[in-house]
Amino acid sequence: MIFAILKGIKSIPKGYIMKITYTLTDESPALATYSFLPIAKAFLRHANIEVATSDISLSARILAQFPERLKQEQQVEDALSILGDLVKTKEANLIKTPNISASIPQLKAAIKELQGKGYDVPNFPDEPQNDTEKAIKEKYQKVLGSAVNPVLRQGNSDRRSTKAVKSYAQKNPYRVVPFSADSKSYVSYMKEGDFFDNEKAVLIPSATTAKIIFRDSSGEKVLKEGLKLEQNEILDATFMDAQKLSRFYEEQITSCKNKGILFSLHLKATMMKVSDPVLFGYAVKAYFKEIFESFGDELSRLGVNANNGVSELLSKIESSPKKAEILSKYNEILEKSAKISMVNSDKGITNLHVPSDVIVDASMPAMLKNGARLWDKEGKECDANAVIPDKTYATIYEAVIEDLHKNGTLNPATLGSVSNVGLMARKAQEYGSHDKTFIAPNDGEFVIVDANGSVLLSHKVRKNDIYRANQAKFDAVQNWIDLGIERADITGDKAIFWLDAKRASNKIMIDLVQKRLKEKGKNIEILAPKEACLESLRLIRAGKNAISITGNVLRDYLTDLFPILELGTSAKMLSVVPMLNGGAMFETGAGGSAPKQVEQLVGENHLRWDSLGEFLALQASLEFYAQKQNNAKAKVLADALDSATSQWLDNNKAPSRKVGEDDNRTSHFYLSMYFTRALANQSADTSIAAFFKPIADELESKQDSIRAEFNNAQGKAVDLGGYYKFDDNKAESIMRPSKSFNTIIEQIARG
Ligand code: NAP
Ligand code: MG
Repeated sequence: MIFAILKGIKSIPKGYIMKITYTLTDESPALATYSFLPIAKAFLRHANIEVATSDISLSARILAQFPERLKQEQQVEDALSILGDLVKTKEANLIKTPNISASIPQLKAAIKELQGKGYDVPNFPDEPQNDTEKAIKEKYQKVLGSAVNPVLRQGNSDRRSTKAVKSYAQKNPYRVVPFSADSKSYVSYMKEGDFFDNEKAVLIPSATTAKIIFRDSSGEKVLKEGLKLEQNEILDATFMDAQKLSRFYEEQITSCKNKGILFSLHLKATMMKVSDPVLFGYAVKAYFKEIFESFGDELSRLGVNANNGVSELLSKIESSPKKAEILSKYNEILEKSAKISMVNSDKGITNLHVPSDVIVDASMPAMLKNGARLWDKEGKECDANAVIPDKTYATIYEAVIEDLHKNGTLNPATLGSVSNVGLMARKAQEYGSHDKTFIAPNDGEFVIVDANGSVLLSHKVRKNDIYRANQAKFDAVQNWIDLGIERADITGDKAIFWLDAKRASNKIMIDLVQKRLKEKGKNIEILAPKEACLESLRLIRAGKNAISITGNVLRDYLTDLFPILELGTSAKMLSVVPMLNGGAMFETGAGGSAPKQVEQLVGENHLRWDSLGEFLALQASLEFYAQKQNNAKAKVLADALDSATSQWLDNNKAPSRKVGEDDNRTSHFYLSMYFTRALANQSADTSIAAFFKPIADELESKQDSIRAEFNNAQGKAVDLGGYYKFDDNKAESIMRPSKSFNTIIEQIARG
């Protein structure tokens, strides 16, 4: 299947040693990599493929910004820039694990850890006081939020469950919490004044260089210069009305109080690093209004910024003479206002504590599969109002709740599957996440003008409104439409373009889609997101598959939503990025870096991270090389890994959640055992078969003792020597506890 989307790639001369680049990232996938990478390296040597690594973890990205402040041995290469160049070449073959999209509190924690380790990196200046601090803040801006993926994703996205994964999930359905017909849970969004309502868009008639300007009574200020626009690219802009947003939050809090359900805010303050922390801050100020009104001066003196959440507020008031008064007000509000949903009721962490704790794409499906319920401060499950202010995407979750009311609990044993083809090439539609998002400094007007001074788009706003502009290049859009058509042709599944004619940018896109469909003689339905979601649910309830062809944000949200509803997790997805220039990137699953799992590892040395995404990515990456380079040995490995992965699924070797039972490391061992046996049994390459035969025998005969070596290591607290920067030696010894297995891997590596 992957071949079809990667066709047209010229072959490279034989004998060339190929290289796969494997990223080193953060949290759970970084830990899993200590165990899995030596295994992958050892096997791939047998196809003359070198596995190189590239460290794009949050800590490495911070260090790469400040070489001048670091000792020589502390300096790191700017791996992200290097990869950014690589992905634009046809040689690119990249395996990408999820990384932290850092919020400001996470960035500050990482800086603190690095400073504690002797790295002289500067503090993050919240409000820069001089040019030096401004320069530091600018460097940190490059590290914050979704800084990695837009650089690497130089192609559109193709995410789906493989047949083996889907049939495994149907045979072993995860436990769904029944949805009760009298559930009071619902999704709320703004009736007016949100990003959806204020959107304007234009199809650029000819290439130009534009500026974003803010005008008010005192004159005009250029906010962004040198904005390169290509012919036929879609430029759109919109804003969120801050006053209406605050009013909306207050109404929702009152309504939750009256209905006796939880208030629960769902945003994406990580990826939408400029807009969403501000949206989050207004919710904090609305919920704790009395604190901000009564103690406003004291909070400003302490430098409390509501956008960083209640957690920062509580820690900053520690040194305040008014601490007791503020705390008593805090507890009073929690007692008398609407109940608030909890991230961790044992630790008193609320939905409003940290902006990056609740991330809509993972948090909403988790709520939906839990009978649409969340937890209150006693840890009791309750119905909730899921507050998602902007209706652009909130309606998809509303559709799921409507469907649950109408058709009852979803049954993963019989559900079909919704795959996704998502627009993202050339930084398409990076909403709210970057350099074209601004907060209005005054009442005034945001204007985008082209090189001739003609106005492309303009928006009158009030002080504090949140403005954002976006681009989508024509070739990226065209490639995305073609990829959608291709997936529909290959699978025969019903495809739907999720586009809303009521949105200005989507209206232009609909014209482009219709034109292209006509050129290609194809007929694919176009539906607004809510209707598309209802139709997709209807199809999968009937056991059929559907393809969602969507913009960038829905790509992100849907590849969590449907996999989580169907498979219980987005970790089991195959995620391919066929690059515009002929290379490919294979992402490992569609989920994130699962921070909660690190806590469990540290506490009891059990890692529940599922590496199926890594296995699928490695298999697809091998297949890509096999095809691209006519590398027959890569094909042998790809086929054997495919069969090993199926066996691994059939035998339920995914990690358990419980300490003492098989975890991530043991699961790597089983995959290796099945992989060696599949290599021993194949007949396409007899020397590979002969090499692996005795190893397969050995692994099988020692499997009980090796498994015991792995599992006996569990149950004790461990020290990784850091969180954002692990101590490599400590992490490696924790993640590779079986001496017998390590010896066999070394033997495979020696080849
Ligand atoms: P998440 O990491 O996907 O975590 C949500 C939950 O999904 C986890 O707590 C875990 O459940 C489960 N999960 C995800 N992947 C798993 C795997 N491979 N094996 C087992 N369970 C898995 O989402 P998040 O909490 O919204 O985001 C966490 C961090 O990841 C953030 O910093 C975010 O910015 C980043 N992120 C990165 C990417 C990327 O680089 N491509 C994508 C998404 C998010 P349990 O805890 O119940 O085990
Ligand atoms: Mg996501």
